[in-house]
Amino acid sequence: MSQIFVESNPPQRTSVGAAPAAPHDAAAFAAQLAQASPHDIIETAVRALPDGLAVVSSFGIESAVLLKFVADVDRSLPVLFLDTLWLFKETLSYRDTLITRLGLTDVRTITPSPSALALRDPKLELCFRDRDACCGIRKVEPLARELEGFDGWMSGRKRYQGGDRGALAVVEADGPRLKFNPLARLTRAELNVVFGASKLPRHPLEALGFSSVGCVPCTHRPRAGGALRDGRWGGLAKTECGIHAGPLPSPGNS
Ligand code: SF4
Repeated sequence: MSQIFVESNPPQRTSVGAAPAAPHDAAAFAAQLAQASPHDIIETAVRALPDGLAVVSSFGIESAVLLKFVADVDRSLPVLFLDTLWLFKETLSYRDTLITRLGLTDVRTITPSPSALALRDPKLELCFRDRDACCGIRKVEPLARELEGFDGWMSGRKRYQGGDRGALAVVEADGPRLKFNPLARLTRAELNVVFGASKLPRHPLEALGFSSVGCVPCTHRPRAGGALRDGRWGGLAKTECGIHAGPLPSPGNS
């Protein structure tokens, strides 16, 4: 087990080096941070994008670990939480639990545009006939709007989650922004060590058999022996909501 992932207290670390000369050069950051610890990746991101960095969290089954590492570095970093208005009430209460437990001071709950909902999903059934469109107005477009004021963001994706995430880079370009993935190299065992060592509370639905939690209509318990994210959009080709599908759209075009 690598010690870099199991620190239970805010670390005293040495720097992994200055930010690359071109501040938005994702490839240079990715090369610099390829073997760095989550804490070092977060610290580098904070230094590189002062006042311009946000964390995006679903407050899902595994979210506590990234949020713990973020809180170790800077509890005041903005954390963007996309409330699609289709979330489990357990996720909303878990958000509040983690805010208190980790001392996060700037968690922003982002909701869809009321006018977009009225126009494109007035009967609340879009998720049953066009999930990409539903994710568009409830996740992708709200996040694109919110990130307009930021130079970069951070996600909690891991390579072990499989699918398109299997080759996840530690740093990616997202249009004009940088996207940091501090947990990309983390293994599931290491993630569980952090949960235990830091006594992080678990999402209430994990004990009921859910291994990945999103919106109520699109989340199911995975089959026995299935992959972690099998319960998301089960039976459909869809495996991602769209916020990681490429550069976020310009809000003016959404
Ligand atoms: Fe809509 Fe389902 Fe996407 Fe949630 S996950 S925004 S309910 S399609």
